[in-house]
Amino acid sequence: MSAKFFIIGAGLWGAVMAERLASQLHLPVTIFEKRAHIGGNCHSQLDPETGIECHIYGSHIFHTSLPEVWHYITQFTEFTNYRHTVLTKHNGKIYSMPINLATINALYNRNFTPEEAKEFLQREIAEAKIAAPQNLEEQAISLIGRPLYEAFIKNYTQKQWACAPKDLPKEIITRLPFRTSYNCNYFTDTWQGVPKDGYFNLFKRLLDHPNITIELNTSYAKIKDQLPKDATVIYTGLVDELCNYQYGPLAWRSLEFSWETVNVCDYQGTAVLNYADLDVSYTRIHEFKHYHPERIEPFNLAKSVICREYPANFSPGLEAYYPVNNAQNNLLYERYAEECAKTQQIILGGRLGKYKYFDMDKTIADALNTFNALQKEIVG
Ligand code: UDP
Repeated sequence: MSAKFFIIGAGLWGAVMAERLASQLHLPVTIFEKRAHIGGNCHSQLDPETGIECHIYGSHIFHTSLPEVWHYITQFTEFTNYRHTVLTKHNGKIYSMPINLATINALYNRNFTPEEAKEFLQREIAEAKIAAPQNLEEQAISLIGRPLYEAFIKNYTQKQWACAPKDLPKEIITRLPFRTSYNCNYFTDTWQGVPKDGYFNLFKRLLDHPNITIELNTSYAKIKDQLPKDATVIYTGLVDELCNYQYGPLAWRSLEFSWETVNVCDYQGTAVLNYADLDVSYTRIHEFKHYHPERIEPFNLAKSVICREYPANFSPGLEAYYPVNNAQNNLLYERYAEECAKTQQIILGGRLGKYKYFDMDKTIADALNTFNALQKEIVG
């Protein structure tokens, strides 16, 4: 393997890899990033009018139970103690998400205790007669019963993925906890927060090393013929594009964001409000000032920045956000990965390069593992 490293993409996976190569192996690394900024989809910036820090590609809350990831990333940022909770609107009424005892009692108009709720849901679940769930719909119904599924999961999922939940892998829904207590935390991890001074400063510090050169506004297609013949390319872009779509395109879901500055101090009272029904075409509204309750100034303003998130079909040229990881697409990805391993001196990484629905912590863990393997290869 050549020690001439070129990283395609300055997102989280690429940035961690660059940082490790530069600081641990003392190697020069050049990153080519097609966007005008580092940080990939984690990027955040201050809105010039209000000073509110906005997550440009949708809300990003860091959460992990992996000690090695927490110890690694906290070298580059402090995190606030923000704890993510979400609300969801269904039939004109606001409920707590993920589904917990408050959601259950509000939907059924009851005052169940946890034990009563468990018993009640067991009867609902038994009625559905699903022995071994095979898809997202069956998985959800076998956890919460049909009425809760139909109220909060079915239509949101249909909007998000543009297909019936029974045609989606069941793993997508196991991202969400379901509880019969009043615990309404969206995440159950040991550590959670948002970077105290923003994702943009986290990425600046990750990449602030004399061995790292960053070329923004530079696509791989533009520079690939200029790289040395023995270059090792670490590629975090779309793998089907890299291979000229020779086996056909991989399926992704995209998103469109519609931004608005509203003339109220507090638009919705929380960072994320989901819209569970089909009559509203967006899935959620983000209100970014709520990620930093410790920053007082934006709360003294009669303005707020909100962003509506619309699921969108993906086609080459648009941003790819969510891999559609069904068995057929995963097989197609494997063909591309084998092709890369065979024909090019290339290492694949990140949500795009690995075709995995990685959270930020899993992205970091995967980059660190890949680096450790590389290090063994290079220094023995
Ligand atoms: N989901 C849902 N209703 C909600 C929130 C989530 O049905 O109110 C489902 C939906 O299928 C979604 C999946 O749960 O794709 C995972 O949700 P998560 O919030 O983890 O998605 P992300 O924040 O990664 O978009």
